[in-house]
Amino acid sequence: MRSSLVSGVLSQMGAVVVPPALPAIVQTGDPVLRQRAADVAPEAIGSPEMQRLIASMVEVMRAAPGVGLAAPQIGVSLRVIVVEDRADYQAKLDPEKRRELERTAVPLRVFVNPTLRLIGEARATFFEGCLSVAGYTALVERALEVELEGLDEKGEQQIWSTRGWAARILQHECDHLDGTLYLDRMLTRSFATVENLGNAAYQGNSIDNIRRLLHT
Ligand code: ZN
Repeated sequence: MRSSLVSGVLSQMGAVVVPPALPAIVQTGDPVLRQRAADVAPEAIGSPEMQRLIASMVEVMRAAPGVGLAAPQIGVSLRVIVVEDRADYQAKLDPEKRRELERTAVPLRVFVNPTLRLIGEARATFFEGCLSVAGYTALVERALEVELEGLDEKGEQQIWSTRGWAARILQHECDHLDGTLYLDRMLTRSFATVENLGNAAYQGNSIDNIRRLLHT
């Protein structure tokens, strides 16, 4: 769709007008990932700049593809996150694994100035990754249930109570707003390349067995 759009948009000089490239995903080591991101003035949410920011975050997340993105990950130190876990992303997971992860489809949601509350004592430990730590993964313990309160893309107040994989995504993205990466929370001995995670030692093995294997 984009290429037909591009070829249709010719300037009067006959040069092709190329749409602006997507912002790059900032990788670990960039100080922007270690700062506390600033609150957004609620009255600014409707501004063209903020709407453009939200739109490019969604585009970057989908292009990666990822299930969540925080503004600092494209170098913008503001408290904005987007999440989306599409059914087609989960289609390759076997149903048993999906149940274990409590991974269900999450429609696109935008949170500005979110406040996260961990609900209850239940915790879950699974491998997670980050678009800003490309190529790696590790076991991270997260609360099973959370409640997230904040503003949506129109500046309206919203509350979302969720659990399982969605709750993990929200904890991960909100961490980004405080300059925290999963690296700070992981079981360090489980740190692995995504490639290794695909190896026989991990496949079909329970998290408990993997932990024994890695002595963690
Ligand atoms: Zn991340």
